[in-house]
Amino acid sequence: MPNRYFLTTPIYYVNDRPHLGTAYTMIVADALARWHRLMGEEVLFLTGLDEHGLKIARSAEEHGVSPKEWVDQASTWFIRAWADLGITEDDFIRTTDERHLESVAKFVQAIYDNGFIYKGDYAGWYCVSCENYYVESDLLEGGLCPVHETPVEWLKEENYFFALSKFQDRLTEWYERNPSAVIPESRRNEALGLIRQGLGDFSISRTSFDWGIPVPWDDRHVFYVWFEALMNYTSAIGYGIDEERFESWWPVAHHLIGKDIVKFHCVWWPAMCMAAGIEPPAGIAAHGFLLVGGKKMGKSQANHVDPVELANDVGLDPLRYHILRDITLGLDGDFTYEGLIERYNADLANNLGNLLQRVATLVSQKCGGVGPRPGGTTQMRAAVEAEIPAIIAEWAATRPNAALTRTWSLIGAANAALELAEPWKLEPGDEVDAVLGDALEVLRIVAVLASPAIPSSAADIWRRIGLSGQPDAPGAAGPSGVLAWGGYPGGVTVERSTPLFPRRKLEELAE
Ligand SMILES: [Zn+2]
Repeated sequence: MPNRYFLTTPIYYVNDRPHLGTAYTMIVADALARWHRLMGEEVLFLTGLDEHGLKIARSAEEHGVSPKEWVDQASTWFIRAWADLGITEDDFIRTTDERHLESVAKFVQAIYDNGFIYKGDYAGWYCVSCENYYVESDLLEGGLCPVHETPVEWLKEENYFFALSKFQDRLTEWYERNPSAVIPESRRNEALGLIRQGLGDFSISRTSFDWGIPVPWDDRHVFYVWFEALMNYTSAIGYGIDEERFESWWPVAHHLIGKDIVKFHCVWWPAMCMAAGIEPPAGIAAHGFLLVGGKKMGKSQANHVDPVELANDVGLDPLRYHILRDITLGLDGDFTYEGLIERYNADLANNLGNLLQRVATLVSQKCGGVGPRPGGTTQMRAAVEAEIPAIIAEWAATRPNAALTRTWSLIGAANAALELAEPWKLEPGDEVDAVLGDALEVLRIVAVLASPAIPSSAADIWRRIGLSGQPDAPGAAGPSGVLAWGGYPGGVTVERSTPLFPRRKLEELAE
């Protein structure tokens, strides 16, 4: 049976439109999903929306519609944006889905039955935008939310609590037994720090509003939005509803998250899983923020960038490539048009685009437009065979930027080999055929390896060098896939055409 790879993104809060920050998460997740499909694994790539809470109820009211009407409308922004960005999610869950409501009821009942939920009084400073309580010492001067810098409200209510404090030792043990469960290490250390500080129980229900999932044993309460939203990861795979399906995907779950939600995913969620009697997820990878001119992206900021408009402007593959190649997962990245154009010209126009253009021109001039078979005893073959295992390892370790750097080193090797052999100075014959065949083979292999980052350009390269099918066929990079040297068949027509990646100048981009 093939390996299974269950990949999730955070579910986005529908009050915020998709922005470049959320698009960043989606592009990284999409590339990972595409890579694991290439490896022949069975992939389930899940994303979705977080649709409950006071903030949503208030937005709906402001717009004169019901909360459900509001979230139905807002959900279309996300569904469309991800389609426009070429995201290949397998499932899209909304926390208002019937399947989520049913599964959450089972999950919380298990926690309740195991004795980790109790009733108590709660009072505190509440930020409606965060849907979160703060203690006095968390607040900024003047009593402002530390995230939103807006006033918080004093709320007092009878709540159910989750007994997080009982999981301090078990969480510590889990981290010790699973040293790579949370990456990068800085986030693992942050989570461990929170656990060592001492864990307090937290409130999981509200009575002050009703836009949420009712507590099964007390319907005056609805669940706190974070508590039930995390359960989307298990409700999507049938927890409590379809046990066979659930067990086939859990706990091989990989959660891709932003560094701002480490506490929820790396402390609360593993404890909630333990409390319900299931294993915590296999892996959590926290990425940094994508900044624009050094500022975190958000709806309220002037530098809000619509990712679909940006992709239309600069090209979807160049945008995806820039994000995947230039940001180290876990560190913050800074988005600038200058950076994007620089990367585009260096890697896509000059390196990859030049190789393709050069080879297509030479095949037309020296080989009658018919691509020769690879020779196979050259430095190009050596480079490919040395790099492929390393590229596979980088993707497996969730390091797309390193995988792409190595992939581009193959293009560099092919360009260098052409410079050395100078086939443009040679008469048609075996020597020319050997070097061009090898370069075509490198292009074929690079099309497969680069397809998670630049899917439509990879397909275009594939077609231009005369291959049928697609470079991203499932299993193409797997053990019996097409990465072995010598796969380019030869005897096929190579298209001589306009440059795939024409050089670009910053000034040409529409404002
Ligand atoms: Zn806030």
